[in-house]
Amino acid sequence: MTGGQQIGERPEGLSVIQIAQNMRAEGAAKITIVTDEPEKYQGAEAKGLPSGIEIQHRDKLDAVQREFREIPGTTVIIYDQTCATEKRRRRKRGTMVDPAVRVIINEAVCEGCGDCSVQSNCLSVEPLETEFGRKRTINQSTCNKDTSCLKGFCPSFITVEGGQLKKKAKAKASVSPHELGTLPEPVQQQPAPGGAWGIVVAGVGGTGVITIGQLLGMAAHMEGKGIVTQDAAGLAQKGGATWSHVLIGESQDDIRTTRVGMAAADLILGCDPIVAANKETMLRMREGRTHVALNSHGTPTAAFVKDGAWQNPSERCAADIARAVGPTGLSRFDADAVASQLLGDTLYVNPMILGYAWQKGWVPLRRESLLRAMELNNVQVENNKAAFEWGRQAAHDFSRVEKLLTGTAGGAQVIEFKKRETLESIIARRVEFLTGYQDAAYADQYRDFVAQVQQAESRLGGKTTLSEAVARYLFKLMAYKDEYEVARLHSDPAFQQRIADMFEGDYRINYHLAPPMTAERNDKGELLKKKYGPSMLRNFKLLAKLKGLRGGALDIFGKTEERQTERALIQQYRASIEEVLQGLNSENHATAVEIARIPEQIKGYGHVKERNLKAARTRWAELMAQYRDPQAARQVA
Ligand code: SF4
Repeated sequence: MTGGQQIGERPEGLSVIQIAQNMRAEGAAKITIVTDEPEKYQGAEAKGLPSGIEIQHRDKLDAVQREFREIPGTTVIIYDQTCATEKRRRRKRGTMVDPAVRVIINEAVCEGCGDCSVQSNCLSVEPLETEFGRKRTINQSTCNKDTSCLKGFCPSFITVEGGQLKKKAKAKASVSPHELGTLPEPVQQQPAPGGAWGIVVAGVGGTGVITIGQLLGMAAHMEGKGIVTQDAAGLAQKGGATWSHVLIGESQDDIRTTRVGMAAADLILGCDPIVAANKETMLRMREGRTHVALNSHGTPTAAFVKDGAWQNPSERCAADIARAVGPTGLSRFDADAVASQLLGDTLYVNPMILGYAWQKGWVPLRRESLLRAMELNNVQVENNKAAFEWGRQAAHDFSRVEKLLTGTAGGAQVIEFKKRETLESIIARRVEFLTGYQDAAYADQYRDFVAQVQQAESRLGGKTTLSEAVARYLFKLMAYKDEYEVARLHSDPAFQQRIADMFEGDYRINYHLAPPMTAERNDKGELLKKKYGPSMLRNFKLLAKLKGLRGGALDIFGKTEERQTERALIQQYRASIEEVLQGLNSENHATAVEIARIPEQIKGYGHVKERNLKAARTRWAELMAQYRDPQAARQVA
């Protein structure tokens, strides 16, 4: 049950076996239990499971549903799996084993196809912007370790068993917020006489939004103030919007509602910009009254699972909020960057935002009461207190906190500060890559072709978008990730070092692969991945050295249809671009660029790539037809 609620009315709850018995007694035509732990049901009939009930792994859920829709009468699927939020809660309390396994994506191998998001439906699979386009990364702070993303059909994943993430140990030993000096006491705003101070905590479910409401409630209670809190959750799973409404008055009689009314918020603790800019939160804001303490880091939403090209709207959210409360009503900083770099976990964002708002004078409670409430809450007390203090420091002088951060300009999301790459640097980087991929002669083929495009485009007076598109996408096609390349990227010392920098202790690395010649297939005929142990690294190193065989008579991997298609694609793309260059002018330039960008859609491995290629070919043919005869294309449209 989401939230860990008891199932049924009996004090001891209802077990899956009891539910199955009830369903059988009610006359269900067919009952199946779907679970991520089928082994749990071995010998369950002896414990009372009615006979004839099938136990299926959750991977078979779709097939079970398809089968059941054909059966007349009432059919029942009992889905037995502990909800992700509940799992994390139990692990935190030590009542459930925390598996010593971490999933990492080698972004160099990742194609950014998004199949892992689709297969796992998991929001901890996040976008990662790289110089070679958008890839995927696992958010280690929110990952619940169910490893369902491993089902994404690609060889990018490794699992690290044992050991522990180094950054936590490092962060603990790092600078304390108190080292930045004592902060001045803020001038605290208070509720109007006889009125209540309305606070809305707006954030993502499963990250401690409700806990912040409870801390405020406890602190107010200890100060003898009037207090009402009410929680409003969207999806209980992490990723759902969640609000906690808190009303604080000098006495209980000063509070007349249980929620913060329309335009009546004095403070919004915007732990997540998307939830803070949600209509539900925005309705509580009023210019001249409401202050918003906002985490400027946007967490990817469920939309990203379905749309790989999803753009994080956090900047737009901040602009909307600034419009609602006026420019002076909004204060923000990237609390995710500060929490992950200085405390080792983004789970501390919410107490940090609370500390930030407190230092601004927007929380009418004493600091001592809030810190005492954290002690009474008795969970990660020291880290939560430190997060509160870091938030105060950020509010007082963010530049001093910023100096302690690495990797981002001020911890704000990097994109804003990234210098636009020049065409020359785009080409140079890829020439270097292709030299490593194959050899200098291969890289020269790339450089010469792009130079041809540059020359043709230069006649149009300063335009470079076509050359840039060809530089990116001819490279993408030429650097197709066959067995030699995946081996080279996994055995790359830079990647090995990255893992060594992340983990400490005794750990082993596993690879998850589906070698076409040996892998089993599922009922759809798709290859299935299998786990390979650390000795695979030796094979990778060896295989990487054999890259010279690529495309030649001795290339045993190169004979598959997938590899032949990949090699043919390079020629087909070059032929299209050559045709485009022959008739290139200012009018058809935009279509030419669209054609050149077609390979952007050809992402993934195996059946995923095949599917994407099919769709791309249709669009490619349409664009070529439009390019050859724009008038006819206009008439058809
Ligand atoms: S290649 Fe596709 S499935 Fe693999 S990690 Fe990248 S996005 Fe996920």
